[in-house]
Formats: sequence, C-alpha cells, structure tokens
Amino acid sequence: MAQLFDRRHGCGEVPGFDRPRGGPYAKALFQRAFAALQSSPLSVMTVRPLVILPDPVLRQKSEPVTTITDEIRVLARDMIETMYDAPGVGLAAIQIGVAKRVVTIDTNKEEEARDPTVFINPEIVWASEELRVYDEGCLSIPEFYGEVERPDRVKVRYMNLDGETVEKEADGLLATCLQHEIDHLNGVLFIDHLSKLKRDRVIKKFAKAAKRDAA
Ligand SMILES: [Zn+2]
Repeated sequence: MAQLFDRRHGCGEVPGFDRPRGGPYAKALFQRAFAALQSSPLSVMTVRPLVILPDPVLRQKSEPVTTITDEIRVLARDMIETMYDAPGVGLAAIQIGVAKRVVTIDTNKEEEARDPTVFINPEIVWASEELRVYDEGCLSIPEFYGEVERPDRVKVRYMNLDGETVEKEADGLLATCLQHEIDHLNGVLFIDHLSKLKRDRVIKKFAKAAKRDAA
C-alpha cells in the first residue's frame, strides 16, 4: 500500500520534485535549447503551455500520425522539454493543444539519466488480467491525485521517430503511464476512472479556478 501514496509512482505531475521555475534550472534549459538550435536543422526546443481542466480541448480525440515529418519531430522534442519542465513522467500531445496521437514518457527518477521514449499512434494490443492500483496525477489537473485501477502489464504497439513499428511489454509505472496517456489520445482523463462524486467535485473546483483566473 505504501507505494500507492508515493507520488513518484503516479503518472503525470510529480510533486516530490520541487523544481523552482527560473534560476539555474531555467538557465540550464536555455543553454541546452541554444545548443540544440546550433546543432540541429530543426527549430529550437520549446516548453509549450499546458492545457488545463476543464478546457474542452482535453476531450478531443487525437488523429493518427501518417508520416514522420519535421513537424512531428519538433512536436516530440517540445513535448519532451515540456514534460521535463513540468516536471512529469508522461505527456500526450493534446495536453499542449495538438490533437495528434503522440505520447512522450520517461519513468526514470530525477536523479537517474534521462531516457525519454516517443510513442506515435500507440495502442494496447494485450493487457494482463491482474490489476494494479496507482495514485495517479495529471499535468492537466495539477495537484489533484486519485487511485486508479488498471491492468498491471500491457503490450503496446507504436511507431518510433524512425517510422518503425515497435512492440513493447511494460509493467509497473510504465504500464500505468502508457494507459493514462493513451486515454488522453481518446479524450479520456484519469478522473473518468474515479467515482462520479469525486470527478464532479474536481471538475467543479477547476471550473471555478478558471473563472477566477479569467476575471
Ligand atoms: Zn494526464
């Protein structure tokens, strides 16, 4: 049970990482982005703004990617940058307002080396009968967590940035994360897996906050 309450095992936002905005981290980000600009013909990596509940964009169904273009490569790079900046362990393109079936995930801990994977058109082709509960969070629903039960292991089929079809088996946090992010591509949020009472309560809270921010 202890694992349930370890936020690092949730998908999405990781509140244990109290990484300040600005300061040395921002400087490092800028330096890295600048280096990328010099070394790549593609545009500079950019942290893009996140779409937050109750924005209806989050309910949109994303379109499959047919060809790997420079636009898709830039999107994937920006998603990775945005995911690390948040910081989070997974991101779906729709969370930065792009309705394309692209997901980025890195389940490594902050102190470990970065190891991002880009999943294009990911689909679950097999799921275990055994289930597992994780305390999930979401970058589009900041500072809200809820226990969600999902298959413990899954097999996912996706296209990588080289346009190759790959199959991968995942368990633990990666399995949870993949299912959470693929849900996003179908306009489904983790709060849809909670009780109606809990879901309505969080939607109401975020709608109120959005109204307050707009005023
Ligand atoms: Zn999410």
